Amino acid sequence: MPFEITDAGMVFLDLSYLIAAVMFVIGLKMLSRPDKARAGNVWAAAGMLLAMITTLIFHKNAEGQNIAFQNILLVLAVIAVASVMGIVIARRVKMTAMPQLVSLFNATGGIASALVALIESGDPGNNSQMVTLLGMATGSIAFSGSLIAYGKLDGKIRDWLSPLMKYINLSLLLILIAMIVFMLLPMADPGLFKMLVYVLFFFSIVYGITFVMPIGGADMPVVISLLNALTGIAAALAGFIYSNQAMILGGILVGAAGMVLTLLMCRAMNRSLLNVIVGSFGGHTGEGGRQVAGSIREISLSDAGILLNYSQKVVIVPGYGLAAAQAQHICSELDTLLSDRGVDVRYAIHPVAGRMPGHMNVLLAEANVPYEKLVEMDHINPDMPNVDVVIVIGANDVVNPAALDDPSGPIYGMPIILAHAAKNIIVIKRGMGKGYAAIENSLFFNDKTRMLFGHAKEILQKLVTEIKGME
Ligand code: NDP
Repeated sequence: MPFEITDAGMVFLDLSYLIAAVMFVIGLKMLSRPDKARAGNVWAAAGMLLAMITTLIFHKNAEGQNIAFQNILLVLAVIAVASVMGIVIARRVKMTAMPQLVSLFNATGGIASALVALIESGDPGNNSQMVTLLGMATGSIAFSGSLIAYGKLDGKIRDWLSPLMKYINLSLLLILIAMIVFMLLPMADPGLFKMLVYVLFFFSIVYGITFVMPIGGADMPVVISLLNALTGIAAALAGFIYSNQAMILGGILVGAAGMVLTLLMCRAMNRSLLNVIVGSFGGHTGEGGRQVAGSIREISLSDAGILLNYSQKVVIVPGYGLAAAQAQHICSELDTLLSDRGVDVRYAIHPVAGRMPGHMNVLLAEANVPYEKLVEMDHINPDMPNVDVVIVIGANDVVNPAALDDPSGPIYGMPIILAHAAKNIIVIKRGMGKGYAAIENSLFFNDKTRMLFGHAKEILQKLVTEIKGME
C-alpha cells in the first residue's frame, strides 16, 4: 500500500519534535564550551518552546480530539506564572548559590514526572505499567533527594551519619524493586493495586531522603549530578507514558549527560558509583582529618608583587573563595598584566573546585579569560615542579595534600592540584577558615607557602596596583 499522510498535523508535530531534539543536541554540545554555553542554553530553550507550542496546537488524544481550548488557556496561565517565577529566581540567585538552584530545579522536574506517573498509573496489567511505576519511583527519589541536597548545600540540613544508614538504604532499595516486580504481576484487585501505587510513592520519597542524608563533605557534587540524571530518566519515562518523543528525547539527553557527568565526577573524587547509590560515604563531619602542626608565614603585598613580576611561569588555582568574592574580573586583570610583561600565566582547573561542576570555567569565561589558559588538573600537575609561583585564590580542599597522605581524612583518595610541588606558593584567603570538607590543610604550613590574608577581590586589586607601580 502506498504511503499515505492521514493527518498532516500529526506529521508536523512529529517533525517539530525531531527538530526540537536536534536543537537540544546542538545546545548540549555548545554547553561544553564556556564561550558558547550561553548560546547553547538559548538553542535548547528554543527547542523546548517549539515542542511546547506545536504540542498545544497539534496534539490529539486517542479519540482524535485536539487539546480543549480552556485547557490550553490553563496551560498557558501556568507557564506564564512559572516563567515569571523562574526569571525572578534566576536573576536574584548568586553565582555561588547555583548548586542550590539546580537542586531545586531537579526537585521540580522529579515531582512533575512522578505526578504524571501517579495520575496515569491506571489499571493493573496495562502495557506501560512498568514504565509508569519506574517513572514514579525515579521521579519521587529525585524530588525528595534534591530537596535534601538543597537543604544541605544551603547549610539548612546537617548530615545524618550512622553506620545503620547503609543497611537502611539497601533495604529500602530492595523493597522498591520487590514492590515494582510484585505490582507487575497480574492482580485481580484494582483497589489493592492503587493502594500499592501510593505505598510505592511513599517509599520512593523516603528512599530519596535516606539516600542523600548521609552523603556530605566533598561528595555532594556526585550526588547533585546523579539526581540530575535521575530527573532526566524520570522525564523520559513520563514521555513513554504519553508516547511523546520530545519528552523521551529530552529526558534521555538529560539522563545520559547527567550519568556521564556523574561517572566523571566519581572519577574526579575517586569514589565508586555503588558507594553513592548505597550512601553513607565521606561524611561532612568536620571531625575527620589530622591536626596539622607548624607555623604560618605571611607575605607582604610588595614582596608578592615582586615575586610574580619576576617569575616566568605562574599558575593560578581558583577555588570557591574566588567565586564567593566575585574576584574573577580582577583576577583576569592580574593575569593580563603579568602576561603583557612576558610571564606565562595559566589556570589550574580542578573538576570539583567551587560549588558546581564547571564552576571555575564559567566564572573565568565571564571575566573573558581565554579558554586555552584553563588547564585541567591532569594536564597541569606534571608541570607543577617547573612552576615559579602558584597562586591559590580561595581554594582549599582541591589543593589539600591530605587527599594524598591522610587515610583518616574524608577527602583521602581525591586527586588534587599539586600546588605543593611548585617552587613558591602564595595563598590568598581571608583567614584560616577551612574548606568545604572542613579539615586542616597542611599546604598552608608548607615551607614554600606564604599567606596573603584578605578578601580575594581587595587583595587582588592591591596586588594589581602594586605590580602596575613596578617597572
Ligand atoms: P573550599 O570550599 O575547599 O575552600 C574555599 C576557601 O575559600 C575557604 O577555605 C575560605 O577560606 C576561602 N574563601 C571564602 N571566601 C573568600 C573570600 N571572599 N576571599 C578569599 N577567600 C575566601 O573550595 P575549593 O574550591 O578548594 O573546593 C571545593 C569543595 O567544595 C570541594 O570539597 C568539593 O568537593 C566541594 N563541592 C564541590 C561542588 C562542585 O560541584 N564543584 C559541589 C558541592 C561541594 P577563608 O574562610 O579563610 O577565607
